[in-house]
Amino acid sequence: MTNETLASTTIRILRQPFVMKIGYDLHGLTVTGMRYLMVAKAIEDGKIECRIESSIKPKSDDELAPDTSIVAQYRASENAMIFPRENYGLFSGSEERTIFHEATHAIFDVFAKSLDDRTLGIEDEAAAVLAEAHYVRLSPKPAGNFAMWIDGPQDKALKLVDKMMAETGDFERNKRTYFLQPPQTKELRDAVAQDWHFVKFIDAQGRPTDSTGVQYIYDGVVKCYSCWVHGH
Ligand SMILES: [Zn+2]
Repeated sequence: MTNETLASTTIRILRQPFVMKIGYDLHGLTVTGMRYLMVAKAIEDGKIECRIESSIKPKSDDELAPDTSIVAQYRASENAMIFPRENYGLFSGSEERTIFHEATHAIFDVFAKSLDDRTLGIEDEAAAVLAEAHYVRLSPKPAGNFAMWIDGPQDKALKLVDKMMAETGDFERNKRTYFLQPPQTKELRDAVAQDWHFVKFIDAQGRPTDSTGVQYIYDGVVKCYSCWVHGH
């Protein structure tokens, strides 16, 4: 069951006018303001749920780097955004950003090309962190603790969005979708790989493990996309 408070918080965040300035393509993953509006509509229509779970389990034991934990999650198989409590995102800019991050994964589910649409985890998370960096730059709220680790993914994402804004006149002069090239995203992807553990490592059982190619699976949120969009 969706939590109405969480759902309305999320919808409000996604419908802020500045979100419409966002438009980029990271190696085939397309993130635009219009697509966030589709996620908001999917939440409003009950196609995507916003749920509370007090402790959110990672998808696998080795999913994250040591000493990191999960505060929120988008679960494609359940079409659900999971948050730790009902007032999440109401009072904190950093929680708003996290909601925006999860909504970016929801975009990829809403726009899944099939029932088994696969994306490379590194690129998927890089796209979501880059979305957060856009949020920091475009939202009037203070950035809070974003990018507090030098050379972390957030720091790299912020530097990248600053370059994009410089080139496009803060997305005002050039409103076209910004197509990112692999050399531009390399540092961000490398930093994401470290934080999300998309690396080679020795697992808890002492086995050498290669998570560099981990894929996310999106199965879509509606059976008939055009019926849903056109309201029948
Ligand atoms: Zn994520």
